[in-house]
Amino acid sequence: MDEGANQEDRGGPGGTIDRQDEIRTLGFESRAIHAGYGPDPTTGAVIPPIYATSTYKQDGVGGLRGGYEYSRSGNPTRTALEECIAALEGGEHGFAFASGLAAEDTLLRTVCRPGDHVVVPDDAYGGSYRLFARVAAPWGLEHTTAHVANTGSVAAAVVPGRTKVVWVETPTNPMLTVADIPALADVAHDAGALLVVDNTFASPYLQQPLELGADVVVHSTTKYCGGHSDVVGGALVVRDGELAEQLRFHQNAIGGVAGPFDSWLVLRGLRTLALRMERHCDNAEAVVAHLADHPAVSQVIYPGLTDHPGHDVASRQMRRYGGIVSFRVAAGEQKALDVCSATRLWTLAESLGGVESLIEHPGRMTHASVVGTQLEVPADLIRLSVGIETAEDLVADLDRALS
Ligand SMILES: *Cc1c(COP(=O)(O)O)cnc(C)c1O
Repeated sequence: MDEGANQEDRGGPGGTIDRQDEIRTLGFESRAIHAGYGPDPTTGAVIPPIYATSTYKQDGVGGLRGGYEYSRSGNPTRTALEECIAALEGGEHGFAFASGLAAEDTLLRTVCRPGDHVVVPDDAYGGSYRLFARVAAPWGLEHTTAHVANTGSVAAAVVPGRTKVVWVETPTNPMLTVADIPALADVAHDAGALLVVDNTFASPYLQQPLELGADVVVHSTTKYCGGHSDVVGGALVVRDGELAEQLRFHQNAIGGVAGPFDSWLVLRGLRTLALRMERHCDNAEAVVAHLADHPAVSQVIYPGLTDHPGHDVASRQMRRYGGIVSFRVAAGEQKALDVCSATRLWTLAESLGGVESLIEHPGRMTHASVVGTQLEVPADLIRLSVGIETAEDLVADLDRALS
């Protein structure tokens, strides 16, 4: 099918940038608002409709209008999202999925075969690790874990001739470890492997891995891209046309696609991504500054702190340091649990990246399943997803809960 054919004709002048290649020359905020869709040539609608349709009328057998034949293969609302997220990542081809994990599964089955090997972070997102360990491994895909902040440890984990993917998250969850994307791209490419970067925590506003040498960007759009905790979704972005064709085939053949309403919600989220990320970062910095001096806190973990081991690398490859802050409570696990239950503005919940501030205890919540493994996190650790409320209110509520 001819993706994007519907994007070429956008009618007359007046608020209509009708070429995607022209949009690619614009700044991030302009791309976020204009990439993927312009005023509809027939109605003038400035926002893409939610194309709630499974199929499309053909003008004679095979005569497709705009390239669409069936909504698993393609849907105009999904196309708008796919083009927008590709433009924001500095990629050429975007693919939207029903969840981040659906995107990851489709990617693995596209670029790996049974008998291949992948290198994965030793502190990978738990759901990603479960996919590697309990779905991909029984299928025949072997993995070795490595500490991705240590480029040498990743190089040592590569199996020459068999490693097809070096998989990286940066910053990681919840320890906010930072991986050096350009250095890891060299490691992967020397081995003939692809560098895949899960860019969920940074979002394309703060970090663009393809520009830094990565081959594939993965997103859980559930988090910052959607940004309002009202949708579960995933995405892949690549530059290479051949890889894109293979992904397009597998996206359709496996079928874990984003539906039109979910696509529309993520697209709406992307339009304000830059504004939201700036405020997430402002508020995270205010929270970090407060916790750093707090007697009840033994350690604050944030890549923006000069004593964070990944600070220099983060400064090179990120615009700012993000909206996730982790910290350890001096009095230990019970106090950490008590703090999580004592906040009133911060909501005790899993997930992250929404406008509302969330607090969680990784050891008992998001990372409960890895207790006793190498992925175990400190029991006195609290993770914050800092939202975009008034910074003073967030600090005051944390302070009350810590006292
Ligand atoms: C949430 C998350 C995922 C999984 O995405 P879903 O949308 O929940 O399937 C993958 N990677 C990271 C870093 C995440 O935070």
